[in-house]
Amino acid sequence: MMPGTAFINIALVLGLMGIAAFLDGNYVFIPACILYYCFLSSFIVQMVRNRMGQLRAEEMSERLLKELTLKNDLLRVANDKLAEKAFEDPLTGLANRRKFDETFDEALADAPERQTPISLMMIDVDHFKLFNDTYGHQAGDRCLQVLSKALNEVISPSGLLARYGGEEFVAILPDHHNSSAFRVAERARQAVQLTRIIGTERSPPSQTVSIGLVSCMVVPGVSRESILAAADAALYEAKQQGRNRVCRDQNLGATSTDATETGLPAVEFTP
Ligand code: GH3
Ligand code: MG
Ligand code: MG
Repeated sequence: MMPGTAFINIALVLGLMGIAAFLDGNYVFIPACILYYCFLSSFIVQMVRNRMGQLRAEEMSERLLKELTLKNDLLRVANDKLAEKAFEDPLTGLANRRKFDETFDEALADAPERQTPISLMMIDVDHFKLFNDTYGHQAGDRCLQVLSKALNEVISPSGLLARYGGEEFVAILPDHHNSSAFRVAERARQAVQLTRIIGTERSPPSQTVSIGLVSCMVVPGVSRESILAAADAALYEAKQQGRNRVCRDQNLGATSTDATETGLPAVEFTP
């Protein structure tokens, strides 16, 4: 019942009772009716006040809840961006070492159950110290950006390329056996060779990379350390053999390829 209607009803009932009491000559009952009316009225006013306060509080808590939800959403977006940045190499925009470690561990954990091989490439820019000494550290940075882009274009459809540190990169190719991984590695090497690092004062010749490749099944005894060590050894071998080549891990019957010209388009770079 609305408060106004309650007031009228009570006034009517008590008024009629007061009139009846008056007609009956019962005068004491009249002030009692008035007092009771005042009491009930103040009680209803208090109830209305309480209810209005409750409605205001509900409205405010609803508004606060909406604000909180909005802030939470913004926080989640910011967190996601931060998490992405935490896994990104700032110079090249590639995955960083932390992302590589995580992805490698996941791939190693998955491989035995899937009964698929895993391949890993260790990539190192050739004579990069000389490049820095000749063209400057800033040009060296730009060179790394251009080379990482060329490498990533070839590798990203097959796996993850990460900056391992300095002028070294690492790529994980899950589900890639020896020969398919070798084809990817060879295309990556050729893509770098065909990339023109132009735009510095004295235009440098194209850079090259050496690649150590290991492909294996993840069986007991094969660990992340042994795979990394095998890729490192293969990379060392590629450097020893004259650089600008892909060498496969010796344990898996390595062969190496010399640089060959391909029809891959040159990537132009303007700093
Ligand atoms: P190798 O063919 O045997 O690999 O020779 P290298 O000169 O590439 O190898 P070395 O290890 O002697 O030198 C690596 C150089 O890479 C030295 C270092 O200044 C440079 N370098 C590492 N990180 C960066 C970077 O972030 N930016 C630039 N500009 N240079 C870097
Ligand atoms: Mg190096
Ligand atoms: Mg190097």
